Amino acid sequence: MSSPILELTNLIEGDLKKFQRRFWSKIRIRNSDQCWEWIAAHHSFGYGVFRIGSKAKGTACNAKAHRMAWLLTNGPIPPGLHVLHRCDNPPCCNPAHLYLGNDWANQRDRVTRGRGNTGSKHPAAKLDERQVREIKQRLIDGKMQKEVARDFGISVQAMNGIWKGRVWRHVLWPIPYG
Ligand SMILES: [Zn+2]
Repeated sequence: MSSPILELTNLIEGDLKKFQRRFWSKIRIRNSDQCWEWIAAHHSFGYGVFRIGSKAKGTACNAKAHRMAWLLTNGPIPPGLHVLHRCDNPPCCNPAHLYLGNDWANQRDRVTRGRGNTGSKHPAAKLDERQVREIKQRLIDGKMQKEVARDFGISVQAMNGIWKGRVWRHVLWPIPYG
């Protein structure tokens, strides 16, 4: 992940208005209390991915879409801080759902709090939280989805749901993304 300073430098180099238009066109903008999901093709662990910078200048990099949404709304992200979701919805870029946090445990806390029938408490669950954590670790280590799905006896479709963050969202990725 690029540093916030690099993201900002790249922004200033370009035409900010054009950039803004391009960026927000990839987001399904709805009411302020609803989630605004990233609709462009690129995803990483369920988060939207947006290309910034210039290939020619060697400044091209991928930025997480929700980080960009926060930055374009509020300004630079202080070093060491993560942009976190109040809505637990990784592709969401609604600035009202985003906040800065420096403590991974905070997010874990919030996610664990007030959860109902999710995860292994769901009657149809094949996996438990511990297994999902292991799955996410393996995916982060670069293992093939197909391979991991086979190891855990689940379908590739179910594995893709974990990868994209459609299911088991409350089991956090082992590395603090944000
Ligand atoms: Zn949201």
